[in-house]
Amino acid sequence: AELSREDVLRLAEENNVKFIRLWFTDILGNLKSFAITVGELEDALDGGMGFDGSSITGYNDIEESDMIAMPDTSTFQLFPWSPRENAVARMFCDVRTPEGDPYVGDPRHVLRRALERANEMGFDNFYVGPELEFFYFKDPYGTELLDYGSYFDHTTLDAATNLRRDTVLALEKLDINVEYSHHEVGNSQHEIDLRYDSALEMADKAMTYKTVVKEIAQRHGVYATFMPKPIQDQNGSGMHTHQSLFSNGKNAFFDPDDQFYLSDVAKAFIAGQLRHAREISIIFAQYVNSYKRLVPGYEAPVYIAWSRRNRSALVRVPLYHPGKEQATRAEIRCPDPAANPYLCFAALLHAGLEGIERGYELPEPMERNLYHLSHDERQRLGIQSLPASLGEAIQEAEDSELLQKCLGEHIFKRLLNLKRDEWEEYRIQVTPFELKKYLPVL
Ligand code: GLU
Ligand code: MG
Ligand code: MG
Repeated sequence: AELSREDVLRLAEENNVKFIRLWFTDILGNLKSFAITVGELEDALDGGMGFDGSSITGYNDIEESDMIAMPDTSTFQLFPWSPRENAVARMFCDVRTPEGDPYVGDPRHVLRRALERANEMGFDNFYVGPELEFFYFKDPYGTELLDYGSYFDHTTLDAATNLRRDTVLALEKLDINVEYSHHEVGNSQHEIDLRYDSALEMADKAMTYKTVVKEIAQRHGVYATFMPKPIQDQNGSGMHTHQSLFSNGKNAFFDPDDQFYLSDVAKAFIAGQLRHAREISIIFAQYVNSYKRLVPGYEAPVYIAWSRRNRSALVRVPLYHPGKEQATRAEIRCPDPAANPYLCFAALLHAGLEGIERGYELPEPMERNLYHLSHDERQRLGIQSLPASLGEAIQEAEDSELLQKCLGEHIFKRLLNLKRDEWEEYRIQVTPFELKKYLPVL
């Protein structure tokens, strides 16, 4: 819903709002927040609220740390758990410089720029529908499970049914429409799918979703995590993202005369994502742990190919149902829910647009289970793999013009520096695996 400045002031008054939390994200996608009291609201809406950005990951150093959080009025919402008196609301903000310009370190700005590129190419909407999976554990200090259910299991096995229900209810109170919610493949693993929306709105919703899932879990005395691969021999948590581009209200991915019902635009878009997947991997799989998920055998992609049925492929095009041309879409399966949703959707969009702009050719679909191909077969078929580690992803990112264009120089440099430090910290660990494998025999 579009809300004006006046709407926000009226809603605040009608609902006895006392505190307004101003939300934005750092470059890794951590939610940052500070609260103002309602007395400051008019000022905040007019000129934004100043804050010190020097300690926000990926923002500016101490010398130039004055930032402005400019509320986006359309995101004004009351928290579902807010008290009725002295109620609490929130708004997402765009981060600005003291001069009022968009701040180059703000991930929301990166996504806005990507959407501008799409607009300039004639697409008025980039729709995304992410499926964010997560685990419930007893507490954050271990992986003690809540249930031993598996995919779509119901009844007593699924101790989290009430948790999921409360979460869905809270999301709907925040105007976030939920399509499905179900138990996932892993024990204690769950998924709540949001109805697709435009990318910027959806990135905000994804941030809210993660907060709400964690908040409701905590209220039930358990812990929810979006860590990509918490348990070695179970499925990890993905953020499969369904995507389509629209022009003048029409799905630009649909072509009734094509054997796959895919337009040339859709094909080039998918080709772009396949071609650039390795260099943007650092965005959709940004942690050391992300690469433990991208391994064969757990429904997460490893090999760079597309398909219609096969869930081992990187991009899957769900089968077309007659009359559902608006739903024609490409599901990219590599992102995980620990990614920064703003940067993730921006990088996916740039990669796809690059394919359209340069007219990339889409290879044939691969309907075989890619996990079962041998190394030699993959070589013969020319099928590449995603980076196998954060270290490899960093190397791919370093030379990527696409990524520099997407992130801008500021975030590009800072993100790579952060990731180099993280990789180094990990690389020097002597692990239990090594002690067990080598100590007795070497
Ligand atoms: N958990 C799997 C992943 O890591 C996906 C399972 C599914 O198809 O929903 O991507
Ligand atoms: Mg799933
Ligand atoms: Mg999926």
